[in-house]
Amino acid sequence: MNRYVEEVISYVKEKYSNQPEFVQTVEEVYSSIAPVVDVHPEFEKADLLKRMVEPERMFRFRVVWTDDEGKVHTNVGYRCQFNGAIGPYKGGLRFKDNVNESIIKFLGFEQTFKNSLTGQPIGGAKGGSDFDPAGKSDAEIMAFCQSFMTALYRYIGPDVDVPAGDIGVGGREIGFLYGQYRRLKGSFENGVLTGKGLSYGGSLIRPEATGYGAVYYLEEILKHEGDSIRGKKIAVSGYGNVSWGIMKKAAQLGAKVTYMSGSAGYIHDEEGIDTEEKLQFILDLRSSNSKDLKSYADRFGCEFVPKEKFWGVNDVDIYMPAATQNEVGMKEAEKIVASGVKYYIEVSNMPTSNEAIAYLKDHGVIVAPSKAANAGGVGVSALEMSQNSERLSWSEKEVDDRLKSMMKGIYDKSVEACERYGLGYDLIAGANIAGFEKVAEAMMEQGIF
Ligand code: NDP
Repeated sequence: MNRYVEEVISYVKEKYSNQPEFVQTVEEVYSSIAPVVDVHPEFEKADLLKRMVEPERMFRFRVVWTDDEGKVHTNVGYRCQFNGAIGPYKGGLRFKDNVNESIIKFLGFEQTFKNSLTGQPIGGAKGGSDFDPAGKSDAEIMAFCQSFMTALYRYIGPDVDVPAGDIGVGGREIGFLYGQYRRLKGSFENGVLTGKGLSYGGSLIRPEATGYGAVYYLEEILKHEGDSIRGKKIAVSGYGNVSWGIMKKAAQLGAKVTYMSGSAGYIHDEEGIDTEEKLQFILDLRSSNSKDLKSYADRFGCEFVPKEKFWGVNDVDIYMPAATQNEVGMKEAEKIVASGVKYYIEVSNMPTSNEAIAYLKDHGVIVAPSKAANAGGVGVSALEMSQNSERLSWSEKEVDDRLKSMMKGIYDKSVEACERYGLGYDLIAGANIAGFEKVAEAMMEQGIF
């Protein structure tokens, strides 16, 4: 591997040894882009790779709120403005009890290259808090969101930094956050957040976009293999926002999701999670703040397997991890290989350990990286920003068509990039290279800072 790349990876491992998720993602991205650095010695002279692993700035702040019983709680909020070379910082907010600096930094670093891949003019950012909305009342969530935004509003804006949702942050939270921003600023700058409700500037298809985009990306892979999505069975982890979008688009295209999972176990629904009623049930379950996934099995007469994961089942054609980070390590990868399932499409951010990815690839599984497959969400967020700045509202079909062509563009760019460097059909390397090249070019042209 390129010496400079190795040096920077070692530097990050040592300096950030207490941030394992961040180290893992830097290692994954930088290992892929070594061939690019080989032919660009000027990157080392400009110390480009070390500059890229340091966020341009990162805020950590106190978020204090009062619960329904009058008890005061203190949480930690973060916003990491990782890289603004190609556009305003852009990336979601995650509200979950395990959120820490390492997770926010890994997500911000990934987001930089993902946003670049979309072809939209957006830089990379991420934020969030160790607050978990699960089990909280609407009034408590509102109190938290208002306090969070009061701490953050000075540092964001439609041309500065545009947060969105992620785990634990959906339409309800974005509404409370935007309301507080508008109160504090005294102006209707709705381009400051994406994932908004339709009544105040949200884009059609945004809630579905990440899942829809992942399925469009999967279609391109299947085409490459001379195959098609029609009739395929899919195991999806999670039953959240992204998983729901996958289920919906798969059903529209004649495929079906037959497995889904949550922290408490998994569902096997051989009929497919593909009717309006079932999809609405999942939406209602999530918005009720309940994690009672078993209630789906009770309602639709299928199997719920408590406390287990489904990795290793062999009655599906495709695996799509879409829940959270670190879902698949070596143990799960061995089960996946043994199942004979050929396609593994990452959709959640960093669901797979680097070791497990290598194992899957070595055993002939086609692995798609989340950076590319889940980029449709932020891609449509960028379309939401465009609609807001032009005071326009595009039709559902228009947004969906743009999303589909964006995903094809991401796939094509990735394939072209790995071929150009003689790496064959390697979607992971291709996505990392294509995402990296544009950010690197912009940073090199903007001078040393
Ligand atoms: P949600 O909060 O809507 O859903 C997360 C889902 O994951 C829930 O069903 C949850 O189930 C499940 N889950 C959490 N932990 C585990 C676990 N240990 N094992 C199995 N299931 C688990 O999040 P999103 O759908 O929005 O996001 C999912 C992933 O996609 C994240 O990695 C996110 O960063 C990524 N992503 C999201 C985008 C978006 O537009 N929302 C855009 C790009 C990426 P339970 O509640 O039972 O724990």
